[in-house]
Amino acid sequence: MPKQILKAHKVRLYPNEEQQIFFAKSFGCTRFIWNRMLSDKIDHYNEHKTELKNTPAHYKKEFEWLKEVDSLALANVQQNLRAAYSKFFKGGFGFPKFKKKGHRDSYTTNNQKGTVAITANSVKLPKIGHIKAKFPAMINGLIKSATVSKEPTGKYFVSLLVETIVEPLPKTYSNIGIDLGLTDFIVLSDGTRVANPKFLSKLQCKLAREQKILAKRREFAKTANRKLSDSRNYQKQKIKVAKVYERITNCRKDFLHKLSFNLIKNHDVIAIEDLNVKGMVKNKKLAKAISDSSWSAFTTMLAYKADWYGKTLVKIDRWYPSSKTCSGCAHVLTKAELPLQVRSWNCPSCQQKHDRDINASINILNEGLKLATLKTVGATGLA
Ligand SMILES: [Zn+2]
Repeated sequence: MPKQILKAHKVRLYPNEEQQIFFAKSFGCTRFIWNRMLSDKIDHYNEHKTELKNTPAHYKKEFEWLKEVDSLALANVQQNLRAAYSKFFKGGFGFPKFKKKGHRDSYTTNNQKGTVAITANSVKLPKIGHIKAKFPAMINGLIKSATVSKEPTGKYFVSLLVETIVEPLPKTYSNIGIDLGLTDFIVLSDGTRVANPKFLSKLQCKLAREQKILAKRREFAKTANRKLSDSRNYQKQKIKVAKVYERITNCRKDFLHKLSFNLIKNHDVIAIEDLNVKGMVKNKKLAKAISDSSWSAFTTMLAYKADWYGKTLVKIDRWYPSSKTCSGCAHVLTKAELPLQVRSWNCPSCQQKHDRDINASINILNEGLKLATLKTVGATGLA
């Protein structure tokens, strides 16, 4: 069955000077209203022990300039703040934070009967009209909302959320297990190894170099007793670092999109390990942190693409001993029998020779198929 989904399209914007001023005002107003509503809520709670139900409208009298920006942008702040509160109360998320200037500047507006629209080379937004734009691909379907952002590189983007119909992909009668590799990005149960793209490690080296220069310039400004905002060399280098970072993010996303789509296209059941990414991302080492966050972005992509295209993604409990189990006879090695540096081993029980990662991905596939069957049986009430 075709499925209606919401797809985000990121489009580069080229605002003129006047439009840039409007965006800066909008970022400023949404940040102001977020911080103001949040601090009033906190004060009210401290005094009365109840929640303050404040809205942006309450502030428009006192702060007239709030009327100059898109009122939907302010309404969305209220919604986001409410969502942040309920996430906090549900647990697992921190208390809503105050927003800092220049850190993820953005605002969101909604399409109300054509207030957000596109032409071949522009995006129309409420209160500001058409802004020059460059579309990476054709966009079809009803636009629901638009989020304008300014990146640390100084570039402007709008992310358009569009209602799209997707058709399920045909069945392939092939299933696959995926193991997160140590040296490769992933290893598949059919023996395929997918390496981390070479350009990524090159860009990571470049990023480390540019960050070192940035740190030196920061030190230099400090010893010269100059504010960082007044140090031209520091600011120039900061943009350089942001640009490398942006390239890494884009290349990585592109790589992960292609890889996840191909896996979904070529297989019906896709089994992966459910790794504790929260714990992994805490790792301070840059390269490691990037590969960890890649894994989390990758599994997210697999999950929604499986849903879009009618395939099954199964996540295996992270305590399942996928590496230490022989995929041939189910004999389980002890931790001491299989230290991390051992890349291949012979099963002491059935003598089969194993590549560590491929054996793990075969186990992940088998475990995944077991769980997928249980799920279908459970769903049809035969369990
Ligand atoms: Zn064995």
